[in-house]
Amino acid sequence: MCQSCNDKIEFLTREGEDRRNFLRNGAALAAAPLAATALAGTASAQEGGNALAGTASAQESGNALEASEVQAWATNDTSGSFAPQTIKRRAAGPKDVVIEIMYASICHSDIHTAHGDWGMPTFPLVPGHEMVGRVVGVGAEVIKFREGDYAGVGCMVDSCGECANCLADREQNCLNGTTFTYNSEDKVSGGVTYGGYSKKIVVTEDFALRIPPGVDLAGFAPLLCAGITTFSPINHWDLKPGERFGVIGMGGLGHMAVKLAVAKGAEVVVFTTTEDKIADALAFGAKEAYLWTDEEAMKKNMGSFDLMVSTVPVAYPMQQFMNLLKLDKTLVNVGALFPIEGAQGMLMGFGRQSLAGSMIGGIAETQAVIDFAAHHGIAADYELISPDQIGEAFKKVVNKEARYRYVIDMTKA
Ligand SMILES: [Zn+2]
Ligand SMILES: [Zn+2]
Repeated sequence: MCQSCNDKIEFLTREGEDRRNFLRNGAALAAAPLAATALAGTASAQEGGNALAGTASAQESGNALEASEVQAWATNDTSGSFAPQTIKRRAAGPKDVVIEIMYASICHSDIHTAHGDWGMPTFPLVPGHEMVGRVVGVGAEVIKFREGDYAGVGCMVDSCGECANCLADREQNCLNGTTFTYNSEDKVSGGVTYGGYSKKIVVTEDFALRIPPGVDLAGFAPLLCAGITTFSPINHWDLKPGERFGVIGMGGLGHMAVKLAVAKGAEVVVFTTTEDKIADALAFGAKEAYLWTDEEAMKKNMGSFDLMVSTVPVAYPMQQFMNLLKLDKTLVNVGALFPIEGAQGMLMGFGRQSLAGSMIGGIAETQAVIDFAAHHGIAADYELISPDQIGEAFKKVVNKEARYRYVIDMTKA
């Protein structure tokens, strides 16, 4: 474990400067050695032989920059069944990158959206906000990527870039409306945005993440939502080595929370409702793991946690876990985006505990979790599926059968 990995990442608001230019210039510096490594190593880097050609490759990739019709997998009602459908991707602008999607993973949010749990989506719906692929085209002004690089796209594809939150690297909280990756108003092309259950995406480079060469690309896709969603509270509440960290629910998000917090040197404890996940939690590096129904364990753990994260995707009474926090500590809910159930003001007041919310993380922080995972050799546990298995995978996720992410293999689609 290295010291710099344990430092809280501070995001400074740089007033009076163009934040995006600042980020881009910083990214270019960081990307230079990365591109050099890309050519030295993997076979896939060799396939992207243009990687060092720089802006010249933008002209060569002329066709890739044109507007295109792309194969996608869409649902047209709340049944959760998917079928192939053609969607349009815009022509790449000067700051856009075109990414051929190789792996797209299934997040529970995709299921909530498709089922209409958060209100009726716009159909056809093409979900997917965890994707990794190869850059096949770069606009003339793109400096963060070159053709052949690997790139990821997470939960958002644009924001205003000018409001106080965007200037503080909080694009997910943009005061003028974040453009989310799917089922969101598309402010560039009109209509709605379409996500990663597709062969290709066009996105401004500011919202594309660099994926280091040599990593497990399919296992990195879930970092784009599950990884950042759990990393952001760990970072914001500044979890320290040796501190006791509780993870409630161990699905896609929860298993990432365990791996990331273990890499931070925390003492990780998992609470699950599924018996066979206890052994998995310990294998991921958790020190202890319990069933919620284990009353003895709940009693034993009272007042013992420095930070807890709840990743359970449905509402449930949270006070039982608030009781496990030390004085003044926080339980962060990242899973249940519904009315909070069962919190008791008296008990929370007695322990001066906080119940907090958190939603994904900004682009800089997302890059940070990708780099952290690469450095520590962390990736999601996953099962590869083909696009015709999306509907079946949705059902398995709801039935808690996923171990721990279904990743759609677009390279075989
Ligand atoms: Zn998600
Ligand atoms: Zn903004």
